[in-house]
Amino acid sequence: MKRAEKPSIATRAIHGKHLYAYKGPVATPIYQTSTYRFESSDDAIRYARGDESILVYTRYHNPTVNEVEDRIALMEDGEAAALFSSGMAAISTAILSSCSAGDELVSTPALYGGSYRFFRDTLPNYNIAVKYADPASLNDLRYLITPRTRVVYFETPTNPTLSLVDIEKLVRLTRRAEKEFRKPITIMIDNTFATIINQQPFAYDVDVIVESATKYLGGHADIMAGVVVGRKSFVKKVKGLAKHLGGCADPFAAYLLDRSLKTFELRVRRQNHNASALARTLEKHPRVKRVIYPGLASHPQHKLARKQMSGFGGMVTIEVKGGVKAAVRVCDNLKVAVNAMSLGGVETLVSIPVYSSHINMKDEELASHGVSPGMIRISVGVEGIDDLVGDFRRALGKI
Ligand code: PLP
Repeated sequence: MKRAEKPSIATRAIHGKHLYAYKGPVATPIYQTSTYRFESSDDAIRYARGDESILVYTRYHNPTVNEVEDRIALMEDGEAAALFSSGMAAISTAILSSCSAGDELVSTPALYGGSYRFFRDTLPNYNIAVKYADPASLNDLRYLITPRTRVVYFETPTNPTLSLVDIEKLVRLTRRAEKEFRKPITIMIDNTFATIINQQPFAYDVDVIVESATKYLGGHADIMAGVVVGRKSFVKKVKGLAKHLGGCADPFAAYLLDRSLKTFELRVRRQNHNASALARTLEKHPRVKRVIYPGLASHPQHKLARKQMSGFGGMVTIEVKGGVKAAVRVCDNLKVAVNAMSLGGVETLVSIPVYSSHINMKDEELASHGVSPGMIRISVGVEGIDDLVGDFRRALGKI
């Protein structure tokens, strides 16, 4: 299909591959089954000989799961996608299918706490070394990437500090090293916070997108899921390892995700709008030390945000005066916003990073992540903006 004819993300999210004449159900059927009947043993023999069209077992393939995978690949402009039971299942399987003992991974410390802990606590046990670049400059990538580097992994905007990594620069430096060492390096981005609506990594020659579909893609705080999107050959390798590690998506969760995708664009655009309005209001509040939102002119990387993001997202982080005690008071006094971990749903959620995503980290680790005790991370939902503004004003007044 020519670029000019390409349907929008919203249309692809709703119709997937059934955009043209298609006889069948409008909603995706749920194949809530673990296994499939063979017509005869010929089917089993064909499968054993490599015929992937034979359905055998849901850990290997499932029509509901496969429908969602195709839809997400189309939406995100990737060749293929693999769906998982959580974002961490997607991330860990993608990394482990790319690295073997003796290999190295280069990342930045500004990551979702779960990914960081997987890199810090698990990968070294498999003799996979992790090196960290300064996300603000990336210049040390020149020294950190070696002939052993297999993956460069990053997140932008970061959780919870909403700082940005310059995707174009990161790709340029990595490709330069790749040429020098004549070894392929997989560039992987966790696009959970921005989503494909606000940031299109494949346009920058990133190889793989990983996402927690528990967040914006799912959007209703009722499923756990994760996704890996990339070239067919890469996704095939990931799915091969997924059969062994077993983090396959459940068909019912896949169905709920399929349903959520139909309103994905609507939700994210409203969340962008609400987040921007809330950030602008809170910036003027006397009890708020600072507001971090890529869409604000006061964000240190606002110029970069304008360049690489097509919308600024639904996440806002504030630092209140009075440290963690004041942050707790605000969270306990909100009535519309819900005090709960996670993000990306229709309900506004708040969490205190030192008690949630960044728990069990030493002071120097928190500092290197840019996390301070008085921070509150706000995942802005789709409620009426006046209700949200009123709720935060009231709760901040209780400090
Ligand atoms: N990536 C980011 C940016 C996240 O915020 C999270 C979870 O909060 C994950 C990955 C992990 O996803 P899941 O909780 O679905 O395993």
